[in-house]
Amino acid sequence: MATLGIPHNTINIIKKYNIKFQKKFGQNFLIDTHVLEKIISASNVTKSDFVLEIGPGIGTMTQYLCENAREVMAVEIDNNLIPVLADTLSAYDNVTVINEDVLKLDINKIVREHNGNNAIKVVANLPYYITTPIIMGLFESHVPLDSITVMVQKEVAQRMQATPGTKDYGALSLAVRYYSDALIVANVPANCFMPRPSVGSAVIKLICHSDAPVKTDNEQFMFNVIHASFSQRRKTLQNGLANDSRLDISKKEAADAISQMGLTDNIRGETLTLEQFAELSNILLSYKIKNKKGV
Ligand code: SAM
Repeated sequence: MATLGIPHNTINIIKKYNIKFQKKFGQNFLIDTHVLEKIISASNVTKSDFVLEIGPGIGTMTQYLCENAREVMAVEIDNNLIPVLADTLSAYDNVTVINEDVLKLDINKIVREHNGNNAIKVVANLPYYITTPIIMGLFESHVPLDSITVMVQKEVAQRMQATPGTKDYGALSLAVRYYSDALIVANVPANCFMPRPSVGSAVIKLICHSDAPVKTDNEQFMFNVIHASFSQRRKTLQNGLANDSRLDISKKEAADAISQMGLTDNIRGETLTLEQFAELSNILLSYKIKNKKGV
């Protein structure tokens, strides 16, 4: 089978199967071997690894993964691409293609059955329209993860890596920081894809923590506090917390917690570090327990 990623071979497959690119599935296929090699090298995939690929497309990166990994599970939503993948991956016996929506898949079950519940590597050129639900879904369902090396929209990569006080900093930056260390590996120009995306792209590697860097008494409550703090960016942290009905926190409780942390009462959520959010949510939780309120 000819190596995909070389534009000539990709075009041949597209012609052979009369492939119509499906915009609704975020289909932009990689046609640059240097970028493919860079992703594989950054992922550090070896022959002992089980790799989950999300959205194999016509199998371009899948071929590289099959060469380097022990086992590859590739999840593709588009029925039309399944016969194409059977052709382009016919040389490999270490790959399984699942025709499913990745957001509906029980990935923990796959990891239990195929990798003895050991940490897996996720490598993908993601469909950009569902980047955040995919990444957050992997994190929040506590899939055993070694690392996630993915192509995403450039702005999303910047948000993932953003630090307190910057315009890109938000709930996604804090979630990524809680679960992993993020590193932008490369910026990728539009001409490396077919068709060309209208946005910039970047490869980001998330090296997942085995233990969270902060101690929180209730992870879900901490993320609710984070979401409340960023939902009204122009409001003070105090108002953001008190205005969120899900938290059920009075303005006095919010003010007391902020003061107990030694912060000023007009501070905004966007300046707080993950450590401060963990401390804040633990304090708010202790008030709730004292006042016998539910979480
Ligand atoms: N990996 C290929 C490549 O690099 O050339 C294709 C990447 S393309 C950006 C994204 C792929 O994800 C497409 O093949 C698309 O059909 C697939 N996809 C979109 N939504 C999906 C979903 N919910 N579950 C699984 N695959 C999905």
